[in-house]
Amino acid sequence: MSDHYDVVVIGGGPAGYPAAIRAAQNGLTVACIDGWKNRDGSYAFGGTCLNAGCIPSKALLESSELYHRAKVEFSEHGISTGAVAMDVAKMQSRKDGIVKASTQGILGLFKAAKVTALQGHGRLLAGKQVEYTAVDGSVRVLSAGSVILASGSVPTPLKTAPIDGVHVVDSWGALDFTAVPARLGVIGAGVIGLELGSVWRRLGAEVTVLEAMDAFLPMADEAVAKEAQKQFKKQGLDIRLGAKVSGASVGASGVSVTYDDAKGSHTLEFDRVVVAIGRRPLTEGLLADGTGVSLDARGFIEVDDHCKTAVDGVYSVGDCVRGPMLAHKAKDEGVMVADLIAGRWGHVNYAAVPSVIYTAPEMAWVGQTEAQVKASGRAYKIGSFPFLASGRARAMEAASGFVKVIAAQDDDALLGVHIIGPMAGELIAEAVLALEYSATAEDLQRTIHAHPTLSEALHEAALAVDKRAIDYPNR
Ligand code: FAD
Ligand code: NAD
Repeated sequence: MSDHYDVVVIGGGPAGYPAAIRAAQNGLTVACIDGWKNRDGSYAFGGTCLNAGCIPSKALLESSELYHRAKVEFSEHGISTGAVAMDVAKMQSRKDGIVKASTQGILGLFKAAKVTALQGHGRLLAGKQVEYTAVDGSVRVLSAGSVILASGSVPTPLKTAPIDGVHVVDSWGALDFTAVPARLGVIGAGVIGLELGSVWRRLGAEVTVLEAMDAFLPMADEAVAKEAQKQFKKQGLDIRLGAKVSGASVGASGVSVTYDDAKGSHTLEFDRVVVAIGRRPLTEGLLADGTGVSLDARGFIEVDDHCKTAVDGVYSVGDCVRGPMLAHKAKDEGVMVADLIAGRWGHVNYAAVPSVIYTAPEMAWVGQTEAQVKASGRAYKIGSFPFLASGRARAMEAASGFVKVIAAQDDDALLGVHIIGPMAGELIAEAVLALEYSATAEDLQRTIHAHPTLSEALHEAALAVDKRAIDYPNR
């Protein structure tokens, strides 16, 4: 086997594996090194997303949502089910099967694209060389025309609540519970805390979420965050803001968590605790001395807008570089870099990266929040449309939440779209495309939306920007 490749990718998650495939599509010789190791000792491509992130969490969100709907919603449709029960072991083995099929699928894609898949550890050496330590311990040095660093991220640890892997777990551990914990504590009301808190809440856990900040979901538009907080409260998620965890100790009765808030010090008892306070870039063992690649103050690999590091021919993409830690952002960066290396056009529009939180109701947005537009000083107009007024949402028994469209007062440019409600994560795609094409609110207004669909809510919200909504009184 040749030890020279046009491109060597370190990391086979959603940043690295698409980069490898696109580079191969561009006619380059490519090797992709990945060291992901599962708890059973097996190695698998796909990184956090496929093994312990996006895919397994969505599998559990789907199962728990169906269980919840069967229990509380089917009767509304006239369906009687008798007692509805959840077989947690079966739910988990379904999830594991989906993960396995997805990760093995990458090997198939690599084979078809003629990417050399190397399982083990990669380390960048000076002069665009990569030291590859295979899983059997053997070491080779590969030389490369270009190197793409896509090493991803790992959970941020919390000193006051160390992970023991049984009682106090990270997000990976919370995806693998073999039984529903009666009392679940979640530290961090971010995306992971809300998604995984929702899974176990729907399955019957009493869930308390401790969030250090006073604001709830500050990255979302304020109206969306407010509606979400109301809905989660209704669902029984006990979200405590301004709660700073000072300690967690495991005893006979479970985990005792102490936290401080404006009212003083409190102690809560849980059977399991999930720590989900963010993720940090993974660069340990990645860079040998003298590579010239630098890290910023927070440990991210420093890159420019096109993911180039300070070293010619060395790029970095995904969670280990600045920007949102999202699989689709990672993928687009990987593809961009693989095209740039081949001398093609490559670009990521960071102003149009969608965010989705897969709770029920889902939340999704793209572009600026109202607070961001206000802070920019640009005059703006807003149109909102509630799902309550959507025939399709009512037929689906999902008529809560709304679509909010923000457009510029002067030239009608679309500035942001914010959705909380059924299938928000699917609906946002139209708004992303609209932003990508620099659409105006009028462009959305003049686009025909099929009836009856949820997408009509976006259409009506765009019409409401100019007080021209048909199916809801304009305010
Ligand atoms: P990773 O997926 O972390 O992949 C990096 C890979 O590189 C890993 O396999 C790692 O083992 C390997 N590696 C690291 N260093 C080396 C080395 N030196 N040698 C060899 N291999 C190495 N994002 C979304 O967009 N949507 C979601 O719904 C979503 N849900 C999530 C749910 C959870 C519970 C979590 C934890 C994350 C979720 N994310 C989601 C975030 C998403 O998983 C990440 O943004 C994405 O995986 C980043 O891709 P990446 O390739 O940069 O890094
Ligand atoms: P996050 O940044 O979304 O949320 C972390 C939360 O923990 C924040 O609200 C923060 O204020 C809080 N926090 C921080 N320190 C704390 C402390 N000591 N005590 C209590 N609260 C504390 O991070 P996450 O939920 O861990 O997710 C990590 C990353 O994974 C995110 O960047 C996210 O984009 C990505 N992710 C995305 C999705 C999705 O796209 N649907 C799903 C899961 C994860």
